Amino acid sequence: MSSVTEYLNYIDGKYTGGDSVEFTDVINPANSRTVFKVAKGTEADVDRAVQSAKQTLESGVWSGKTPEERANVLMNAAMLIFLNKDKLANLESVTSGGTIRRTSTVDIAITAATFYMTALTLKELPRVEHAMCPPWIVPVHSYWKREPVGVCAGITPWNYPMILAAWKIAPALAMGNSIVVKPASTTPVTTLEMAGLLRMAGLPAGVFNVVCGPGGAVGERLVTHPDVDKVAFTGSTEVGRRIARLASDSIKRVTLELGGKSPLIILDDADMDLAVNVSLFAFLLNSGQVCESGTRLFVPRHRQQELAERMVEKIKKLTIGDQLDMATDLGPIANAMQLDTIVNYVETAQKEGAELFYGGQRLTGGDYGRGFFFTPTIFINCRNDMTIAREEIFGPVQCVIPYDDVDEAVAMANETIYGLGAGICGKNVAETQKLAARLRAGTVWINTWHMLRPDAPFGGYKQSGLGRENCYHALLNYSEVKHICQDLTPGADDKFFNPLIGLNK
Ligand code: NDP
Repeated sequence: MSSVTEYLNYIDGKYTGGDSVEFTDVINPANSRTVFKVAKGTEADVDRAVQSAKQTLESGVWSGKTPEERANVLMNAAMLIFLNKDKLANLESVTSGGTIRRTSTVDIAITAATFYMTALTLKELPRVEHAMCPPWIVPVHSYWKREPVGVCAGITPWNYPMILAAWKIAPALAMGNSIVVKPASTTPVTTLEMAGLLRMAGLPAGVFNVVCGPGGAVGERLVTHPDVDKVAFTGSTEVGRRIARLASDSIKRVTLELGGKSPLIILDDADMDLAVNVSLFAFLLNSGQVCESGTRLFVPRHRQQELAERMVEKIKKLTIGDQLDMATDLGPIANAMQLDTIVNYVETAQKEGAELFYGGQRLTGGDYGRGFFFTPTIFINCRNDMTIAREEIFGPVQCVIPYDDVDEAVAMANETIYGLGAGICGKNVAETQKLAARLRAGTVWINTWHMLRPDAPFGGYKQSGLGRENCYHALLNYSEVKHICQDLTPGADDKFFNPLIGLNK
């Protein structure tokens, strides 16, 4: 008889059942088998986690430490993530469907580097800034410094659970905040493991808590909790809008990293081999389940057919299957609901007249058994106003849109509610740089895609989000600025304000 490991929530420095009486099954999307059971947190668990975070914040046990002390703990965390890379990568792959080839290399490296680079940036962040020569008639000394926002809530999705949790945890802790994270219900285990590693790294109990459970209950309790000061969310634009509305009642600080429909413009002079590889990588990494995936491919009309044919040649050589096998190129779709979403979008595309060039089916039978597999799919001769070109599909579906001149391509690229990523393939450096300036997106890649540097800001224009994650920009987003102003004149008669309201009489 096989036993399934049970995970508990992490509150006040301990793995605890808390008020949870139920467990949620976490499954492997390659075969639908239950791999873990995770305690389903309650609103009462959220209250206990927030209380613990608040108490530790007020005690100064973490918020009162020097930036060097906090940076040291973050660096220890980076090292522990590397030391535990095999376990973490395995857990991440088996629950999210990400290939082990990727999770054990890129995901581990980015997660660890997020803690490490955040620590380095923290050490360089100015502690205080002074204004020694005030524009006043009396001597005044002013300085301002950064302080924690308070208790932060992180709500994370299922596509890159470890990295996206680290993007919230590292900057929150760096600036002395306490944080409660609610991971996606289908992929909570690596975040729970990280909680234990951070404790081992030297983080005091109560500073970082994890409560698992449904977004509508556990997530919303966090977003509306009176003692939560900031909410950082990554997920769908629809839920992001709701979170922004709920958080606005108490004017909580909000960081949102939402959906995308990123355009990739292939210029006429682009090298075809490069254009093929970038176009494929842009929409196939993690089977397209990446918020900044390049899923609108703008191609000069006369090059469309050749580009599509050459993409298909390469797709046919890819191995789709068990994500835990090092030889696998593309794993399963992360969950059944997401697979249904993709199937529905492909049907809609065909009804709206998009031309299916390749793929478009769920893979079943044989090794695919009860898994959620979908073929890489290419539609050609799409229009920018079709549903598949306007809405985020979050699957391996490329939508090729032919264009006749570059200005038209740029206009179509920007004609979207989103603005997370964008890209250009072309030989002429000056031309690509000029175009990059015209694209309305938080990140523009030239002759590459998915380069998420832990030391570069990441976030969206328009409805793709609010604020920026990573390093310096994240540190600003996780702190408040306090201006302290001291009048250096000693006596009551010296005050500049006396004559203003007649106090010198
Ligand atoms: P959601 O936006 O619903 O989920 C993301 C996180 O938010 C999860 O932890 C979820 O919890 C939580 N959540 C859900 N509802 C609420 C709520 N009312 N209040 C607070 N937290 C909530 O994404 P889905 O999983 O439903 O995926 C739907 C679509 O979202 C995808 O098809 C894709 O287009 C997009 N998406 C975008 C991502 C990105 O990186 N920007 C990542 C994932 C999805 P729970 O898991 O318990 O539902």
